[in-house]
Amino acid sequence: MKKIIALILLITLLFSIVGCQSTDSDADEIFTPGTYEGEGTGINGKIKLAVTVDESQIKTIDITEHNETAGVSDSAFEKLPAEIIEYQTVALDTVTGATYSSNGILEAVKMALLAAGASEEDITKAPTKKDVAGTLIEKTADVIVIGTGGAGMSAAADVIKSGGTVILIDKMPSVGGNTILAGSAMNAADPEIQKTQEMPTSQVTAIEELLALEPKDEYMAKWQEEIGADMKEYKAKGSTYLYDSPALHKLQTYAGGDYVGNPKLIDIYGDNALDAVNYLKDLGTEWGPNILSAVGSTWVRSHQPEKSSGSNGSSFVLPQLKYVEDNGGEILLEHKAEEIIVENGRVVGVKGTTSDGTPFDLRGNKGVILATGGFAANVEMRQEYNEHWANLDETVHTSNPSSSTGDGIIMAEAIGANLIDMEWIQLVTGSGKGTFTASILNNIYVNVLGERFVNEDARRDHLSQAVLSQPKSIFWLLTDGHTVIDTLGGYAVDGTLIEDRVDNQQLFKADTIEDLATQIGMDPAVLQKTIDQYNDAVVNGNDLLGRKVFDQKFDKPPYYAGIGLPVVHHTMGGVEINENAQVIDTSGKPIPGFYAAGEVTGGIHGSNRLGGNAITDIIVFGRIAGDSIMK
Ligand code: ADP
Repeated sequence: MKKIIALILLITLLFSIVGCQSTDSDADEIFTPGTYEGEGTGINGKIKLAVTVDESQIKTIDITEHNETAGVSDSAFEKLPAEIIEYQTVALDTVTGATYSSNGILEAVKMALLAAGASEEDITKAPTKKDVAGTLIEKTADVIVIGTGGAGMSAAADVIKSGGTVILIDKMPSVGGNTILAGSAMNAADPEIQKTQEMPTSQVTAIEELLALEPKDEYMAKWQEEIGADMKEYKAKGSTYLYDSPALHKLQTYAGGDYVGNPKLIDIYGDNALDAVNYLKDLGTEWGPNILSAVGSTWVRSHQPEKSSGSNGSSFVLPQLKYVEDNGGEILLEHKAEEIIVENGRVVGVKGTTSDGTPFDLRGNKGVILATGGFAANVEMRQEYNEHWANLDETVHTSNPSSSTGDGIIMAEAIGANLIDMEWIQLVTGSGKGTFTASILNNIYVNVLGERFVNEDARRDHLSQAVLSQPKSIFWLLTDGHTVIDTLGGYAVDGTLIEDRVDNQQLFKADTIEDLATQIGMDPAVLQKTIDQYNDAVVNGNDLLGRKVFDQKFDKPPYYAGIGLPVVHHTMGGVEINENAQVIDTSGKPIPGFYAAGEVTGGIHGSNRLGGNAITDIIVFGRIAGDSIMK
């Protein structure tokens, strides 16, 4: 009997194999075996790859060339080729947070497969994906950090340095959040380097104006006193170097945010700024040799990562990621936090769901650090809290990734956290493909007529308001060889080559002002007059529009132009914290076990964040949160 059953099974198996082969033999006709090249367009230009196929199957996909942003696009390169091979189709969803790179990969693979002889229909079949929710994931560590941007990474690194264990979660498929997209720089008074740079008299005047302000409180009076004493000595010695100090950084941060920020937090912030720059350096961030002035920074104290080491944002995140991973930090991606767990009045963990619907419950013996970023990409929240802009609906773009939806603010509020400064929402002018540098040194803003209309060293809110009042609400950012060649070495803030941007028609380039004006549709005579007036101001420090921060004359070809418009960039308000980064409840008391850092918090930037201050904030308070929770 057994033999008969075995024989039937064998025959069934043979038939099923023959059956499979016959299906396969239909499929045999899909491709001509070989390796084919394909090309698609990512966020920074071409993505090239090679696809190897046999008669019926896509076998391998090798990425041969791309210029996508490290960290941001990694998830697309890791996931999509594997999924294309698994499901044998290019009809796949893009990877969240890496849409452009995903589309570029899908486009390139499709091109290669069509070249291999496939029909459109063969390679665009809907995948039979089955996302099956698993059973509850339960894990425990000393600390749970929610969010893997700059603040979350710094918090996790300091938990590890204090001897703790840490689990970091992020709802996205890749780390870095808004931080890894940052094109800006990191502010810190760094006198050792700044002393090698000159300070124009217009900046001495700017300091004197700050010292003449009526102090709002004891902190401001203390900062003014310190700067006043320094300037007395500076003048007595006949110094001409670029003056800076933590006190000046604090005073400008406080005044630049209209005294809405908490001076106690600003004091801590300024004292730890340079330490934060050096902390990143120790982990491997390579800083460029010069100190610049980020858009809206109002001073020359912005540290820019070395251009050749990739985008600015990746320099703020990836060295920290390496430290966390090398030292046992566990990172769980596609884990969306939905609820902070409170037991007996203490925060003990977080609940949520993974991207395939699996629930998780993570416990922190010492508590939870919230580092979920701001809400610039949440139109509903923008509209709910906005009090100062005419319109922040979906027609106003954001520079932030889709992950900046204010989840942490909502979760924290639900357990009694106090929210502060929520109405202050920042628009920025220096963002997007028309931007090459985060610095305003040597950069000029002109309107579509070729006229300057604002002092480019102004605060970001003033710059944005000024652009919004210009024809078409756009501006042209102009720069020259001093910046592109001497300062940037040919690289834009996101790590792309400026010449590639010119080739992709994202930027315009000319050897003369006349040619540049013609290319961007302006009257050359008007633009020339604008440049001449600007150059006079560089020499005599007397700018018609009141600009005080200058570097060199605008006179070194080639000249460049890129178009820009204000976009929602940063949300200054958020969860209230104290000097230990503990979250404060609506009755003014710290919530036990609950800490927060970065853009999810309010309190430093007040009504207006100075350009280059965010990275410093997230690193300084991320580290404080990591240290405090371990104490
Ligand atoms: P910061 O600059 O303050 O560090 P970022 O925006 O750089 O803020 O990083 C915040 C991170 O938090 C992002 O990577 C984002 O995907 C993540 N995040 C936001 N909401 C959630 C959530 N509900 N669950 C898990 N991660 C989240």
